[in-house]
Amino acid sequence: MGDAANHGEAASRRGVMLVLAAPSGAGKSTIARRLLKEDPLIDLSISATTRQKRPSESEGVHYFFLSVEEFKKQRDSEAFLEWAEVHGNFYATPKAAVEKSLAAGHDVLFDIDVQGAEQLKQKMPDDVVGIFVLPPSMEVLKARLQARAEDSKDAMEVRLTNATGEIARWRDYEYVVINDDLDDAYDLVRSILRAERAKRDYVRTVPDHVAALLNE
Ligand code: 5GP
Repeated sequence: MGDAANHGEAASRRGVMLVLAAPSGAGKSTIARRLLKEDPLIDLSISATTRQKRPSESEGVHYFFLSVEEFKKQRDSEAFLEWAEVHGNFYATPKAAVEKSLAAGHDVLFDIDVQGAEQLKQKMPDDVVGIFVLPPSMEVLKARLQARAEDSKDAMEVRLTNATGEIARWRDYEYVVINDDLDDAYDLVRSILRAERAKRDYVRTVPDHVAALLNE
């Protein structure tokens, strides 16, 4: 043990696949954006979707917007790590980008629903860490969805109804973060990520002399 090949193996350890799940309006996307901005070692998995693009969204930044036909074609050619129907639209995680990030020693952040999280966990049980972000109450969730007002009233109703079913799945996640105060919720997510990195003794974050010690 302790040879160069071994060191190489430890240094290229796969990253954390961090799944942030929550009912829409819980504040998950805000937390995700901040994490991506402040931590250069974590990449966002950009999903494919068949839903309509919102005015504030851009192709390839928020989603890859696909027709149902194109989505099904990619799904059938196994281009996705997971896929699900959410609020009447299809969503999926493209496989190639995730593999590329992990191979580069980066962590990957997933902003996906509970069905997708479950599929990822089944496929990569050792890599996936799930955080469920909860709103402090149903009233707050409703108010946040109304304030967003980017979706039609019908779409909002669907999201609210689905929220109850999604919240019921909180036990499937390793961590639960209640987003009452955004800064507190964000700090907790960052702490979880740091702890998960330490748990996998990330050689990339320790000095060479410590890395050598780990490979003894
Ligand atoms: P939105 O339409 O508000 O952007 O997202 C609706 C829901 O779909 C959210 O819960 C979001 O996390 C989820 N979602 C986004 N991308 C994916 C994906 O790639 N796979 C799955 N399973 N869910 C996704």
